[in-house]
Amino acid sequence: PRPRRGLQSRPRPRLLPGPAEDTRGAAAPAAPAAASPARAPPLGSAAVGPEPPLSRSRDRTPGEGRPGALGGRSGAAPGPGPSADSPVPPAGKAQEEALQERYRLGSLLGSGGFGSVFAATRLSDGAPVAIKRVPRNRVRHWGELPDGTSAPLEVVLLDKVSSGCTGVIQLLEWLELPDSIVLVLERPERCQELSGFLAERRFLPEEEARGLFRQVLEAVRHCTSCGVLHRDIKPENILLDLATGQLKLIDFGCGAFLQDTAYTQFAGTLSYSPPEWIQHQRYHGEAATIWSLGLLLYHLVMGKHPFRRGQEIIWGRILFPRRLSQECQDLIKRCLSMQPLDRPSLE
Ligand code: ATP
Repeated sequence: PRPRRGLQSRPRPRLLPGPAEDTRGAAAPAAPAAASPARAPPLGSAAVGPEPPLSRSRDRTPGEGRPGALGGRSGAAPGPGPSADSPVPPAGKAQEEALQERYRLGSLLGSGGFGSVFAATRLSDGAPVAIKRVPRNRVRHWGELPDGTSAPLEVVLLDKVSSGCTGVIQLLEWLELPDSIVLVLERPERCQELSGFLAERRFLPEEEARGLFRQVLEAVRHCTSCGVLHRDIKPENILLDLATGQLKLIDFGCGAFLQDTAYTQFAGTLSYSPPEWIQHQRYHGEAATIWSLGLLLYHLVMGKHPFRRGQEIIWGRILFPRRLSQECQDLIKRCLSMQPLDRPSLE
């Protein structure tokens, strides 16, 4: 049945997998049946399929040389070491050694379906960095950097958004090792995932939520102005700098180039995917982003996902406590309109 407009008119509940089923990566279109969730393969980083091929799959064998001493340096902020501009591509082992010479590896910060992220210190100046290592065979989509270098799409997207906005994590450099791709990212010294912060606080007062939400909006607007769609906005992918209160959007592993036409492949977290994806297997970038931002704002002020019931997602009417202003309630309801056209624009 066609969903009726607005959240007050409750559509027939649709069941989607909940947290345990959350998958990331390019997913096949969901079957229209409510109980047939789309399951994403373990790794994919961008839209593929009918929309213009924005990245290409690559069959490069491990160990191939790359321009630049540490291999495939991005066009992002220059790498810290003097060898970064060397014209001689060293062998993979030397790259690994160069990495160890320049960074001291610390504790594991997180590992997901896509790779492992370690805290590290840049030895030249003591700067804290995060080192994200993604096995080469998990990189499905490649693109091109402005200088023509082929790079994983995550690197290409990060390169596009890495300057001009403090709300987006900065890519400092990237390296290609025989068996993996290494991203060296800025790391706030004392930081926490927004999800963990919210879990500790249960929910945030509206004033505080407003400031954080505004920061996320600015970061997302920066990305879209650079032609990048993040596609996986959720509290787990937002870092809170505990010293400054500043938020940073991380993990562009599900991102894509922004396009005007509808996407027909999904990448991201299913419980944050918009209803049009589940119902019609297509979505527009901005409308889907607004849907995920509505979920985020709800999460900030209520401390949980609005439609999650254990393992399932059930769309329906949202109830708010009296403490929430009418404006906040309205904004959430508009972002979570079942019809994409009823959602507000990013502006
Ligand atoms: P997942 O599959 O869980 O999304 P992933 O392999 O795509 O993981 P990221 O989401 O980029 O990797 O990072 C995993 C975790 O590592 C993050 O949730 C965060 O806690 C930590 N992390 C990532 N980047 C940084 C960073 N720049 N600074 C500090 N911590 C970071």
